[in-house]
Amino acid sequence: MKAVIIGGSVGGLFAGNMLRARGWDVRIFEKVASTLESRGAGIAGHDELGRLMQRAGVAAPTRGIDVDGRVAYDRSGAVVARYAHPQYLTAWSFVYRRLHEAFPADRYHLGKELVGIDRSAERPVALFADGERVAADLIIGADGFRSRVRQEIAPEIQPRYAGYVACRGVMNESLLSSDFRDRIVGLYSFVFPGDGQLIGYPMLGPDESSDPGRRRYSYLWYRHTSEAGLRDLLTDASGTEHQYSIPPPLVRPEHIERLRRDAQARLPAQFAEIVLRAEQHLFQPIYDVCSTRIAVGAVALLGDAAFVARPHVGIGVLKAAQDAGALVDSLEACASQGLSPAQALRAYERERMPAGRSAVAFAQHLGWFIEHGLETPWSEGALGQTPEYLIRVSARPMEHIPDDLARVMIN
Ligand SMILES: Cc1cc2nc3c(=O)[nH]c(=O)nc-3n(C[C@H](O)[C@H](O)[C@H](O)COP(=O)(O)OP(=O)(O)OC[C@H]3O[C@@H](n4cnc5c(N)ncnc54)[C@H](O)[C@@H]3O)c2cc1C
Repeated sequence: MKAVIIGGSVGGLFAGNMLRARGWDVRIFEKVASTLESRGAGIAGHDELGRLMQRAGVAAPTRGIDVDGRVAYDRSGAVVARYAHPQYLTAWSFVYRRLHEAFPADRYHLGKELVGIDRSAERPVALFADGERVAADLIIGADGFRSRVRQEIAPEIQPRYAGYVACRGVMNESLLSSDFRDRIVGLYSFVFPGDGQLIGYPMLGPDESSDPGRRRYSYLWYRHTSEAGLRDLLTDASGTEHQYSIPPPLVRPEHIERLRRDAQARLPAQFAEIVLRAEQHLFQPIYDVCSTRIAVGAVALLGDAAFVARPHVGIGVLKAAQDAGALVDSLEACASQGLSPAQALRAYERERMPAGRSAVAFAQHLGWFIEHGLETPWSEGALGQTPEYLIRVSARPMEHIPDDLARVMIN
């Protein structure tokens, strides 16, 4: 059986490696012409992610950074909550690199952009910008939040701007003050500065080192930004307005200057330091994607192409891996009963839709106060979001989240 996977990032590689292990003939097509290692930042490690990596034929992360727990700070820099939650942090590039190395290079095609799918025949045919056509028994859209495959099977689903932007920065640990290194680096920090939310955590060094002094530190500052403010941010110096996101070199210097000024004025001093010392600043608008269909015929979506939950839940990579695992399980189960890939995809859709919807809804709940420009999550009593609650439930797999999700279906 032949599978075509669109998108060569973590979701596509999880699916590709798992399908190959089951004897499928798989080719992955990635739009970008170079490998993707430089993307992504630190991510939380989860036991299940390790298990799914093993299932994809690669070693589970052994090189992570252990953090003892989580701490919340208010705008003055005072500690307002602690939560003892030992956890290890790994890096997006660590997961990607392992999966990429395990997949045969001659079946992974860079610089190949899908432009359409012909579904008129029994087997779908992927159409590429260079004119190539590839027929398959199964086409998987692992092509991210602006998925071209989703546009084919569910064009009505579009990313919805969440009302805020994540300003991100990464720096070598050696650039931080000794006070920051001694007291803060080893923890997962949450700051509620009266202007969105900042999180900071250590991440593996560029050489994947977890040794103190050779690691990096990463921060994400989520800031309420109006639609007009977003359009201004996405407009480069030549006046061109970019759709959805802007490459870092094209961000106008005035936005970086404003970020630095605001950091000094609004963040507690110990956290203003990290914004001022970061080597590069990225501005990532936050979007929700909540699909109503993730399979049509022999075409399926997984990972961010299917659902994008705001990063507060910290499970984007895990969810992509879970989708891939569920898809391969459904194909196996149906093949053993003589059923077609299309029938397997219907079972996959039934299984993964609730998980995707729940992740999106819960992440909306966690980001509601930023979306609506509230000073702090506890400014709105009805939300019930104390700092203790937020640091306990953020960045954890969904099974740790309270069952009564209906309570949080705010939107
Ligand atoms: C600010 C921020 C913080 C985050 N933090 C975390 C975290 O802590 N933990 C975590 O687990 N996740 C986190 N995530 C989410 C995580 O990065 C994603 O969920 C994950 O990368 C999704 O993988 P994917 O393979 O589904 O999609 P993507 O990584 O988006 O990959 C899609 C691929 O498809 C390719 N593509 C697109 N269109 C085409 C086409 N037409 N033809 C061919 N190829 C195409 C793209 O070039 C891309 O390489 C965060 C995201 C953001 C924005």
